[in-house]
Amino acid sequence: MRLGACTIIAPMSSQALLVPELPAPPSRGLGIYVHIPFCVRKCAYCDFNTYAGLEALHETYVAALCREITQAAPTHGHRKVDSVFIGGGTPTVLSGSQLARILGALRAGFSMVPDCELTVEANPGATDQSRFRELADLGVNRLSLGAQSFQEAELRFLGRIHGVAELGTAVDAARAAGLQRINLDLIFGLPGQERVAWHRSLDAALALAPEHLSLYSLIVEPETPLAAWVASGRVAAPDDDLAADLYEDARERMAAAGYLHYEIANWVRPPVAGEAVDAWTSPPGASRHNLRYWRNEDYLGFGPGAHSCLHQPAAEGAAHQARRWWNLKSVPEYIRRLGAGQEPEDQSERVVGALAMAESMMLGLRLVREGLSWAAFQRLHGVDARECYAPILAELSEWGMLESSSSALRLSAKGVPLGNQIFSRFLP
Ligand code: SF4
Repeated sequence: MRLGACTIIAPMSSQALLVPELPAPPSRGLGIYVHIPFCVRKCAYCDFNTYAGLEALHETYVAALCREITQAAPTHGHRKVDSVFIGGGTPTVLSGSQLARILGALRAGFSMVPDCELTVEANPGATDQSRFRELADLGVNRLSLGAQSFQEAELRFLGRIHGVAELGTAVDAARAAGLQRINLDLIFGLPGQERVAWHRSLDAALALAPEHLSLYSLIVEPETPLAAWVASGRVAAPDDDLAADLYEDARERMAAAGYLHYEIANWVRPPVAGEAVDAWTSPPGASRHNLRYWRNEDYLGFGPGAHSCLHQPAAEGAAHQARRWWNLKSVPEYIRRLGAGQEPEDQSERVVGALAMAESMMLGLRLVREGLSWAAFQRLHGVDARECYAPILAELSEWGMLESSSSALRLSAKGVPLGNQIFSRFLP
């Protein structure tokens, strides 16, 4: 599911070294990502670390994953965990008892707050009401469904295992099972996609009244079937101009439907129609887990290829530094290492100085309502972003790309479609 792109932040430095752990006080919260690297079938566009046909490894994988979680608990278990995101992959290919063991390991090793957001990704073609009921019984309180399109031809092109009918069925079944926070992922910018088809998909998604919608443009990732089709000329490369138009259409349609745009690719349905939400705040219903990434806060990732990042803020003494590390990607090797009592960490890096500050700027500016908090930046890096980036901020503001308040900086409505160009201005 596309949301995985948000759950694993790619390293931005080419310097990868093994660096030691940073101590962290319990007062700072923590998010946990758990990777399930299995799918029923690989979609044509997907380059996530996930595999079809590995059913024989499910049981040993769950044992290895629980071992990694348990091994991390003595070091990190004192932190208050306020979000858990079980993604992949398709977590629901695992049995209810396997998912229960994973959650049991998390609850045994970590201090999860009572209202911890607990999201599970699911594929509409690999779930039913009894499975959703199991998830609800396990304490899952947020479901992210990879819908991707409400057009049969587009779903076939993408290689999805479900048709349009299963999308509504899955949402109804999830609600009947008691899962009331539902996200739908949609993809736009398919080669040759007609605007009217995109409008129909958006309208069909909105008709299901999901609490949250994530809209992603199709990216041709290397070494995917889609990349081979484009290279051979079998399909046209996605058109950036078309994707930009479709994105604008989405912004308009979502606003007309009352959804609140809070991150470049994410919208929330207000919990109560007409309820006022501060214009400079991410609304209730925003993904707490993904907010953590965009606010450049701490997270741990478990499973093959999962990334982790822990900060030592400047406010806690020495200059800010972050330690980021990621696990090896091979599922069999991951299982072997954990079975041998070894760590699955592959590489790590220290992120400091101008690069660390640029990451905070680029991530924070993705939050199109709350923006980058001046105070949070100062706490983390020990310097004032307004001073560090004065010339860039002045120029971008003059062009009408940014707007600021006494507490935050964000993209203007004009700046949102140009986010990537704006973000790159902060890179050292
Ligand atoms: S369901 Fe498709 S897009 Fe999602 S992780 Fe599996 S292969 Fe990738």
